[in-house]
Amino acid sequence: LKYFTVNLSPNVRILQDMEGSLTARDRVGIQDFVLLDAYTSETAFMDNLRKRFNENLIYTYIGTLLVSVNPYKELGIYTKKQMDIYMGVNFFELPPHIFALADNVYRTMISETNNHFILISGESGAGKTEASKTVLQFYAVCCPSTRLLDNVRDRLLLSNPVLEAFGNAKTLKNDNSSRFGKYMDIQFDHQGAAVGGHILSYLLEKSRVVHQNRGERNFHIFYQLVEGGEDELLRWLGLERNCQKYRYLIQGECAKVSSINDKSDWKTVQKALTIIEFSEKDIEFCFVFATHFSLFPFFIIYSCQLLGIPLNMLQEGLTHRKIEAKAEEVLSPFTAEHAKYARDALAKAIYGRTFSWLVNKINESLANKDSTRKTVIGLLDIYGFEVFDVNSFEQFCINFCNEKLQQLFIQLTLKSEQEEYEMEGIEWEPVPYFNNKIICDLVEEKHRGIISILDEECLRPGEATDFTFLEKLEEKMCGHPHFVTHKLADPKTRKTLERGDFRLLHYAGEVTYSVVGKFHLMQTVSLSLHTSDHFDDVMVRHQVKYLGLMEHLRVRRAGFAYRRRYEVFLKRYKALCPDTWPHWKGTPAEGVQRLIKHLGYKPDEYKMGRTKIFIRHPRTLFATEDAFEIC
Ligand code: ADP
Ligand code: MG
Repeated sequence: LKYFTVNLSPNVRILQDMEGSLTARDRVGIQDFVLLDAYTSETAFMDNLRKRFNENLIYTYIGTLLVSVNPYKELGIYTKKQMDIYMGVNFFELPPHIFALADNVYRTMISETNNHFILISGESGAGKTEASKTVLQFYAVCCPSTRLLDNVRDRLLLSNPVLEAFGNAKTLKNDNSSRFGKYMDIQFDHQGAAVGGHILSYLLEKSRVVHQNRGERNFHIFYQLVEGGEDELLRWLGLERNCQKYRYLIQGECAKVSSINDKSDWKTVQKALTIIEFSEKDIEFCFVFATHFSLFPFFIIYSCQLLGIPLNMLQEGLTHRKIEAKAEEVLSPFTAEHAKYARDALAKAIYGRTFSWLVNKINESLANKDSTRKTVIGLLDIYGFEVFDVNSFEQFCINFCNEKLQQLFIQLTLKSEQEEYEMEGIEWEPVPYFNNKIICDLVEEKHRGIISILDEECLRPGEATDFTFLEKLEEKMCGHPHFVTHKLADPKTRKTLERGDFRLLHYAGEVTYSVVGKFHLMQTVSLSLHTSDHFDDVMVRHQVKYLGLMEHLRVRRAGFAYRRRYEVFLKRYKALCPDTWPHWKGTPAEGVQRLIKHLGYKPDEYKMGRTKIFIRHPRTLFATEDAFEIC
């Protein structure tokens, strides 16, 4: 089973009433787009989103999909009090909230004993990571626990600041941008207590260790260490308390960021490390490897000492290429340029391995020792779609990842939704939508996709260059509707492409990638404005479009907002009809038919499928639910 939250970047007070009265509705919009009268109009959609945003109502449903707009300010809506309000209450009985989604997932998991997944999508800075943390917080606070399990909850929560310190950084889009993808399993026992967890990390952006674009920083942990590390630790690592001394930290020219307090974050991370049971030795190990070599690439003697390898080995490795010729090894010296490249490659590799080691350690600490069967809620938070002035292989991977997530979103919602009607034998006028499979194939298809071509080129060391790679791409991709090279780009209508660039037309927009191994220096720095209380129509409309939210709404609206298996529906509401209460002897479908006849459902309000009842309007379900409450 799947739950989606789609986060929008824009650029509460939660109303306790159900937004029922007309005046309230005028002011705060409608809490489920499915109820919108002019549901096919993008303008009406935008109006509703804007109206709600202006009232600090950042969440709106499209059926069971939760859409959220990043407010970029504290709304005070994630308190324990709010959690209590949402705990154990039906999804549609309260104003939309991420807690409602989390609670619904949790309760369905318990009652149906099956696994659930929450997928969070949206571009960089849209609020995905915050949403995943909020969900985790909700479970940590609201799930039953025993004293014994309290530390599992603490560890689950505290793994976050540690991973963020090592895996997040300030970018132009987000001051705390995740530079790795994260999938987290939270394991629950049959009583619903959180008993363990497991984290999978994907594709850490290692290049950041050695290079940052203007306006961006290296990973937070470096600045935390230099700003907050104890004198003794710094002395031991041979570091000075001054970021300006380290080239790896200041390429972006913004070592200090007003929204970030490195010193206090250092303390938080240290505390978290002890609670997730990192020994002193472990902590030392992580800083030696993660920070020392990266910060001090020139102090090779010191680096060797800390890494525990002989000086000549490292020296030779960084300055010479080893060529094997006829059972003989010949050392050929690097140019200075190559040696720098080798140094950077080593720093990246060491940081990457430290990060994997860190994730493994955290997993050991989260591991559930007992082997009874558990159910799982999975949380997927990847880095969002991103476009910079200069985009390289990292952006290519990140954007491909988002392309795949969109594919999953389409398959699980638009596609499966329509297939379900067919399977259940419900009459249905298909809703067309853009399927981004064509772009996924362009990248990943075996033997023909961009990744295959790149792999092939990598197998020809010495012969292949960035440009032969691009030539191959041009040759093989020529004419593909989502691929543009500088040969094909039309300078009149499109921004021209440099030699060395190619462009992909992603689902979320066009991105120009540079294949040149080195990064270009930027001309100007594009500033992204993360302001609160600002709803940028053009930006939001663009996201609504590419995420396919209108299509989603159309499918939801033309179809049936809610459906229940006959057994489930009957079990919940059978008390509402004397014929079905307390026991119904016939088939569940017949029971449901009898029940809704008694409740006065009109023929156009519902359809009977092969195994489920389909209800067109949530209002119908609300009314039934209200009747149930009263009875
Ligand atoms: P993403 O993971 O999508 O790149 P983040 O979750 O890191 O984005 O959010 C970026 C920033 O936006 C956060 O650091 C925070 O300042 C702000 N933000 C995100 N979600 C919320 C929210 N629900 N309420 C208030 N501020 C938020
Ligand atoms: Mg993030």
